[in-house]
Amino acid sequence: MDTCKCFSCGGVYPDIDGPVHHYMNSSPGCWSVYSEVLAREYSDSRYFEVHRLTVDAYAVQHPGSKDRQSIQSVGVHLIRLCLFLEHGLKAEEANEAMLQAGKNKQSFFYLEPPQNFGLITAADIYQAKSVQEHKTIVKEWTRSVWEAWSTHHDIVREWLPINALHRISR
Ligand SMILES: [Zn+2]
Repeated sequence: MDTCKCFSCGGVYPDIDGPVHHYMNSSPGCWSVYSEVLAREYSDSRYFEVHRLTVDAYAVQHPGSKDRQSIQSVGVHLIRLCLFLEHGLKAEEANEAMLQAGKNKQSFFYLEPPQNFGLITAADIYQAKSVQEHKTIVKEWTRSVWEAWSTHHDIVREWLPINALHRISR
């Protein structure tokens, strides 16, 4: 099958026609492979620990355009990555953190995406041969994509929901 690079994340995917997300812009092949990755994670509870990380990493590798919905999506997912990576947020706390982060989303503003989103993409997660390998690569993926957004780390840290931080530190 022919392949092509996703114009957003840079991963190499099947060159196919098909649906894409309405604001996380990607190539159809990228969206299709990501959907497979999600299906795998939903199919087995052993993936629970990394499922939110997958969602966050994918979202911020596909920031879309400057519309309000994209801005808020990038903001909320960067905040959650920050909470996972810098504050030890647990998987079971992820939904609550998302709700808290979303409360301030009107104040988020456009962050110029990095030129390069790192070397790991959904294509690498898809290639994983075991649950353990999948989880390991997802964790590397989140670190690499968070690092890619490093010029905006200080802004994201200012957007962190105070309530969520209190709950984690307890
Ligand atoms: Zn992509």
